[in-house]
Parts: sequence; structure tokens; C-alpha cells
Amino acid sequence: MDVYDRLYAAYGPQHWWPGDSAFGVIAGAILTQSAAWTNVERALGNLKAAGALSPEGIDELPEPELAHLVRPSGYYNAKARKLKTFVRLLDEAYGGDLEAMLASPAEELREALLRTHGIGPETADSILLYAAGHSVFVIDAYTRRAFSRLGFLPERDTYDGWQWLFVQSLPSSAPLFNEYHALIVRLGKEACRKQPLCAECPLSSICPVGAAAA
Ligand code: SF4
Repeated sequence: MDVYDRLYAAYGPQHWWPGDSAFGVIAGAILTQSAAWTNVERALGNLKAAGALSPEGIDELPEPELAHLVRPSGYYNAKARKLKTFVRLLDEAYGGDLEAMLASPAEELREALLRTHGIGPETADSILLYAAGHSVFVIDAYTRRAFSRLGFLPERDTYDGWQWLFVQSLPSSAPLFNEYHALIVRLGKEACRKQPLCAECPLSSICPVGAAAA
């Protein structure tokens, strides 16, 4: 919580997730794999302009046309297939009812998402937290990099090991997990980059790497 408090004091609320509907959040979580958010926004804008930013819209579009619309986000053929696969899961397991899907228990939904082509733990947990509001902590490359440098190492250097480190250290709260992940992304973009800018980091006074760089 000390790290969170310092990040929040420095950066303030991040207002995540940037999306105006639950399905927009889900599509964004799929399209943001290996992509900068500005490019994802262009892809989402294309879908919206085509009236296809909905499960029905994705379902009705031929896959090549869908791939063309999401092209700005990169890996567009694979991402079009992933969007189609998500919508198929929604139809087959939840009768096409997105609200029912998002209201299902977190563990059950996580397992269903992880069984779906192209959805890994980070994407599944982003959907669980930011679209469904479940208290699930999202781990990404920014999290691993910054917290390794800060000296917080999990027992197992795996996605689940990192997630457990946060879950056992924090109160279980979706609003807290929402803000914390967004703040870590901000930290990773502005200070804890591949080449860290420790002089500009709000955590430099508690970070061994930051102290060594001072
Ligand atoms: S002080 Fe440097 S290494 Fe430590 S978290 Fe900040 S940017 Fe990363």
C-alpha cells in the first residue's frame, strides 16, 4: 500500500479503463496485446464508425473485413480471429448475454476465458477487473519490471506467482486493483522504462535501483 500511496500522490486518479461500454473494454483488452494504446484507439474508432463495436457487430462482419478495421492495432488477422472467438464463447456459453457473462463468478469466467483461443491471463484478468468489476489483480510487463527493481520478488516468477504477491499483500478491492494497475502502467511509461528514469520517479526514495542511481 505504501507504493500505491506514493504513486497515487504523484500521478492522481488514472480514470481507467478508457472505454465507454463493457464490450468496448473487452475489445480493447484483446486489441491491446503487443500494441500501443493510441493504435488500439484507432482500431476501436474504426469498429465504432462501422457500427461493429458490439458482439452482434463482430459476429456479422466477415473476418477479412474485421481484420481490415482492426489493422491499426497490429497482428490484425490474429486479433480479428480472437474477437470472433470471444463472441463465439459468449454465444455458446452465455446465450449471447454479455451481462450474464460478466455477472458470473470470477473463477468460472476466468476459466472460460483462459480456454478461449488467444486469451491469456493478462487479457482475461483485464476483462474480469475492468469489464466485470471483479477484484482481480492484473499483472503485466510493467508490473514485473518495476516491482523486481523495487525488490518485491514472488516465490515463483510466473504470472500466478506475481498475482499472488499482490493479492496477499493488499485488501481485496476492485476499485483499488483498478487504480493500482493503471498507476503501475503510468509508472512504467514515464519513469520505470527499460532504461529507468529514476530521478523522475516517485518511488526513488524506497527503490534500491533508484538509490544506486542517485
Ligand atoms: S526508482 Fe528507478 S528503478 Fe526504481 S521504480 Fe523508479 S524508475 Fe524504476
